Amino acid sequence: MKRAYNFNAGPGPVPEPVLIRARDEMFNFEQSGAAVMELSHRSKLYESIHFQAMEQIRQILDVPDHMEILFLQGGATLQFSMAPRNFLRKGQTGTYVLSGSWSEKAEKEAAYFGDTSILSSSKEANYAHIPDTDYSQAPDNSAYIHLTTNNTIFGTQWQDIPVNTTEIPVFADMSSDILSRRIDWTNVDLAYAGAQKNAGIAGVTIVIISKDLLAKAEDGPPSTSYPVHADKQSLYHTPPTGAIYITKLVTDWILENGGIDGMEQRAKAKSDMLYRLIDNSDGFFRGHADTHSRSSMNVTFRLENERLEKQFLDEAADKGFMGLNGHRSVGGCRASIYNAVPPEHVEALCSFMEDFRSRS
Ligand code: PMP
Repeated sequence: MKRAYNFNAGPGPVPEPVLIRARDEMFNFEQSGAAVMELSHRSKLYESIHFQAMEQIRQILDVPDHMEILFLQGGATLQFSMAPRNFLRKGQTGTYVLSGSWSEKAEKEAAYFGDTSILSSSKEANYAHIPDTDYSQAPDNSAYIHLTTNNTIFGTQWQDIPVNTTEIPVFADMSSDILSRRIDWTNVDLAYAGAQKNAGIAGVTIVIISKDLLAKAEDGPPSTSYPVHADKQSLYHTPPTGAIYITKLVTDWILENGGIDGMEQRAKAKSDMLYRLIDNSDGFFRGHADTHSRSSMNVTFRLENERLEKQFLDEAADKGFMGLNGHRSVGGCRASIYNAVPPEHVEALCSFMEDFRSRS
C-alpha cells in the first residue's frame, strides 16, 4: 500500500509503527475483548494507558515534580481563553508577545477576560522573525507573559525560550513544537499543545502547569478550571480516550527512538536539509523566515511568482507529496516536518525540489 509523503501542518502524520500497533490492537486490546475506545474511562485497563501516557511525557520532557500534566479537550484554542479565565484578575494585564497569527488569536481571546498588553511584536515584518523581547519591560501588573514557541504559519521558532528573570509566570503555546526539543522548565510555568502535530491525533490537548499556579487560579466554572482537572487527574469528565491512547503509543515510539535528544537531532537533520537546499538555490526558493528565527518544524518558502508556485504545488501533489501549500493567510509553500515525518521523505522532497528547479 502506497502512503503519501505527508507534510501536513496539522493534523500531521503519525509514526507508522504507531498506526500498525493501533490497527493490531483495535479489535481486542490486551485480551479485553474490546477496542481501547470501547473501554470505560473508569476501567483499570484504560487508566493504565492514561497514566502511562502522562508519565512518559514527563519522562521525555523531564517535567519536574512541581508541575502537573493534564489531558484536556478543546484544542490549543480553548487554552487561549482558559488561561486568562483562570489567571487574569481585575487590575492585572495579560501580556503578550506577538510572533504570528496564533499569538494574535490568544491575545484576542484574553481581551474578553480583562486587560491585555503587547510586550513585543514582529507583525510589521510580516512575522518573518521572532520579535526582540525583554521580559523586564513587561508591565508590573502582568498576570503572565504569553508566547508562542513555534509559529506554524510563518515558520519561525524561538531558538531558546528566554530566561525568566522576573517574578511573572510565563505561558507558552507549544502546539507545533512540543516533544521536538528539550525545555528548561525553570522558564515556563504553563505550557499547552494540541496533540495533532507531534504528540498524536486531534482530540487531546496536553497542558503542563506548575502547582504554584494551580494554587492561584480564580474560582469559576469547573469545566474550565485547571485545579479541578488536576485534582481529578484529567478524569473530571470523559477524556478523549482514543486520542490519549494514540499519544501513549507515540510516547512509546519516541522513547524507542532516542527520546527527546533523538527527536531534536531528527528535527535538526531534516530542517538543515531543506534550508540548505533553499539557501543554495540561487534565489529560486526563497525562505520566508529570517535565518536566525527559522523553525525546525515548519519550513516556509516561496517561488518567484504565484504561477510557478502553483505549478510546483500541482506537480508535487501528483507525485504524492501532501500538504505543501502555505497557510491560506500567507500563501506560498510550507513543508511541515514534525517528528513522525521520516528523514527519507524529506530527502524525497529535496530531490523533487532540485528536479523542479532544474527543469524550470
Ligand atoms: N497554536 C498554534 C501554534 C497552532 O499551530 C495551532 C494549530 N495549528 C493552534 C494554536 C490552534 O490549535 P487547535 O486547532 O488545536 O485549537
